[in-house]
Amino acid sequence: MKTATLLLLICTTLSAWNSVGHKAIAGLAYDLLNDKARARVDSLIRQHPDFALLIGGAPGGQKANIRHAFMKAAFWPDIIKGDLRFYDDGKRDAVGTEIKAGFPEMKQHRDWHYINVPFSTDGTDTVNPRDPNVLSQIRWIRPLLANEPSPGHVKDPVYLLPWFLHLVGDIHQPLHCATRFKKDQVNPQTGKPWSDLGGNTVNVVGSYNLHAYWDDALGIADTGTFVNGVVKVMAKRTGSSAETLDPSKWVEEGLEISRSFVYSFGNEGGGKENPIQLTDEYRVKSRQIALDRAALGARRLAAILNAELGN
Ligand SMILES: [Zn+2]
Repeated sequence: MKTATLLLLICTTLSAWNSVGHKAIAGLAYDLLNDKARARVDSLIRQHPDFALLIGGAPGGQKANIRHAFMKAAFWPDIIKGDLRFYDDGKRDAVGTEIKAGFPEMKQHRDWHYINVPFSTDGTDTVNPRDPNVLSQIRWIRPLLANEPSPGHVKDPVYLLPWFLHLVGDIHQPLHCATRFKKDQVNPQTGKPWSDLGGNTVNVVGSYNLHAYWDDALGIADTGTFVNGVVKVMAKRTGSSAETLDPSKWVEEGLEISRSFVYSFGNEGGGKENPIQLTDEYRVKSRQIALDRAALGARRLAAILNAELGN
């Protein structure tokens, strides 16, 4: 049981901006909503079947803290990875769980969180990303946000809003958009070229791996004070391309940052015996990049919510 719990924690850590990142992005976005969009998202969040979970731990009672629930909702798609009510629908032998009141399905949708756009610097064959992915799902959900609530339906905006908040965050983490192929990196079962799974197979000194290093780049102290401090820092970053609302461009940006900086430590694969030692310079710059990406993600998220729900 202890091992299972530990594995669960590790897997959750490997999968996305951590809770600080998602909450900070949602927090800044919430602060940038117009009155109409804010009233609308407040209403959607209050109707969520997991509202008790989302508002849990909010200081000052429910009324004042829908913002808290909104921020937690942005992390909800990661929370359900460790929730036995939900199941990993990506497994070949997946067995569905009982559908609970208000939900259309109990799928964890682990493949919605990223798009593995491949690149190689040594001419190795690559493999194209699969559907569904973070890009296809952002495109699918956006026009559904303004629908009337329809509990139990897969197109219910109440169910989909936390997903949208989460996925717009994820797509701004560069390693949710890119994966590196290289010559000596092959699938041990098939012998074919294998991606590094968005940096998940690249061991890094002091972190689980390269992907997790970037997930944690905004900080790891999940307290209201800390997260709101990150929101304040992000709010000072304007980001010249905040008006770019085409999510395929966001993926291109993530791929470009991955190619030009994320893997700038070199061609080493970061095997278990030879973890990558990131330099102090890399650590400083990566934090700046992460703050810029998160700030852009928040501004774009707010712009879309204002466009869909605030007119
Ligand atoms: Zn995610």
